[in-house]
Amino acid sequence: MSPKIQAPRGTFDVLGDDALRRTALEAHARRILERAGYARIETPTFEATELFARGVGESTDVVQKEMYTLDEGPSESLTLRPEGTAPVCRAYLEHGMHKLPQPVKLWYLSSFYRRERPQAGRYRQFTQIGVEAIGSDDPGVDAEVILLLAELLEAVGARGLRLRVSSLGTPATRETYRRDLQDYLREHAAQLSEEVRNRIDLNPLRAFDADHEGTKRVMAGAPLLIDHLTEEDREHFSHVCALLDVAGVAYEVDPTLVRGLDYYTRTVFEMTSDALGAQSGVGGGGRYDGLMEVIGGPPTPGMGWAAGVERILLSSPPPPVAPAPLDLYVAYAAPEYRKAAFRLAADARRAGHAARLELGGRSLKGQLKQADRAGARFVAILGEEGTSLKDMESGEQKTVEADTVMHHIRGGKAL
Ligand code: AMP
Repeated sequence: MSPKIQAPRGTFDVLGDDALRRTALEAHARRILERAGYARIETPTFEATELFARGVGESTDVVQKEMYTLDEGPSESLTLRPEGTAPVCRAYLEHGMHKLPQPVKLWYLSSFYRRERPQAGRYRQFTQIGVEAIGSDDPGVDAEVILLLAELLEAVGARGLRLRVSSLGTPATRETYRRDLQDYLREHAAQLSEEVRNRIDLNPLRAFDADHEGTKRVMAGAPLLIDHLTEEDREHFSHVCALLDVAGVAYEVDPTLVRGLDYYTRTVFEMTSDALGAQSGVGGGGRYDGLMEVIGGPPTPGMGWAAGVERILLSSPPPPVAPAPLDLYVAYAAPEYRKAAFRLAADARRAGHAARLELGGRSLKGQLKQADRAGARFVAILGEEGTSLKDMESGEQKTVEADTVMHHIRGGKAL
C-alpha cells in the first residue's frame, strides 16, 4: 500500500457536527450583519503581494514572516490573503464605491492564510468573519461596528468574553508618544528585563506586555498614549465610549492595547475569551483612516473587525445538533422496482419534501432499518403488492395508489 497522505499541519477538514455549527454561525452572522445594512463581499483568495506589503505594513510580523507568496515570474508576485481589510479597501477603490452613499458597509466570511507555528487555536489556514464600514469617521460607526461583534458573539453563546477598547490617536501623536516612552524606558533601563531593554528602539510598546517583575513595576508608571491624544481624538473616543454605554455593551478602556497591524488610527478594540487557552483573541479591529491613501486611493476613513470562526466555535458551547428532518424514505423490495422508487423520491423532493432513496444495495430489512435510523416520518415500500406506506410514528401501514403518496405525506399527518 502507498503511504497515506494527510492534511497539512495547521489545516483541518470541516465535516460532521463542525460543518453544521459553521453553517449555524454563518446564518447568525448574515442575520445580524445584514439587518444592520452590511452587504456580503467576496474578494479573491490571492492578491498582488504589494497590497499587503503596503496595506498591512512592511514592519509587521504578518508581512515579514507569515505570508504565503506565489512566485509568478519577474513581473508578478501574488500572496494568499493573510487578512481581509486591505482586499476590501482595494475592492472599494476598484469599484468606485465612493460614489455610493457613505459609509459603505460590507461583511465577509472567508479563509485566510498565515505561515504560523500551528497550535491549539492557531492555524495556517483559518476562517474569519469580518466587517468593514468605509467612508465615514463618525464615532457612531465605531460604536456600531463594535456592537455588532458583541451581538454576534452573544448570539452564539461565546463564553468568558472581555472587550477592551482604546484609542491610538493619529500617527503623528503616536510618533511623539513613542519618543516619550523611549525616553522613559531609557531612564529606567536598569530595572527592565534584557529583552525589553534591547527593544527600546525597535518596539517600545511591547514593554507593556512583559511578564518580568521589574519591567512591570516600571510600566505601571509609564506614560500612556491615551493621555497624549489631541483634543479632537479625545473627543472622538469619548463619543465612541458614550455610544457603547447607551447600547449597554460592557467594555474596559485599556490604554495598553496594541494591535498587530500598522494601519490603525483612533479606535482599536479586542475581544478575548477566557474559555480559550493561550490564543485568547476571538476578534478585534479598529479604525484605519490612513489605509486608503497607502494603497493608492484618496483619503477615506474606515473602521472594521475580523473574528476567527474557529476561535468563536472553541469558545462557545456546542448547540444540540438536531438531525435534519426526513419526510419520506423510499424503499423497494426488488431491483425491478428501482426505477419507480427513484422517480417517487425525485417527485417528493420536487414537491418540497425531504426524501431519500436506498442507494446502498441493502435488503428490504436493511432498508427499513436505515429509514428508522434516519428518523423518517414515512416509509414508502415499492414491491409486488404495489406501494405501501408506513407511518413511522403510529406504526400503521397500508397499501396506497402510487400517485397518492404525496397526498398522504403532506403535512406529516398520520395515515
Ligand atoms: P487579526 O487579523 O490578526 O487581527 O485576527 C483577528 C482574529 O482572527 C483573531 O482574534 C483570531 O480569532 C483569528 N485569527 C488570527 N490568526 C489566526 C490563526 N493563525 N489561526 C486561527 N485564528 C486566527
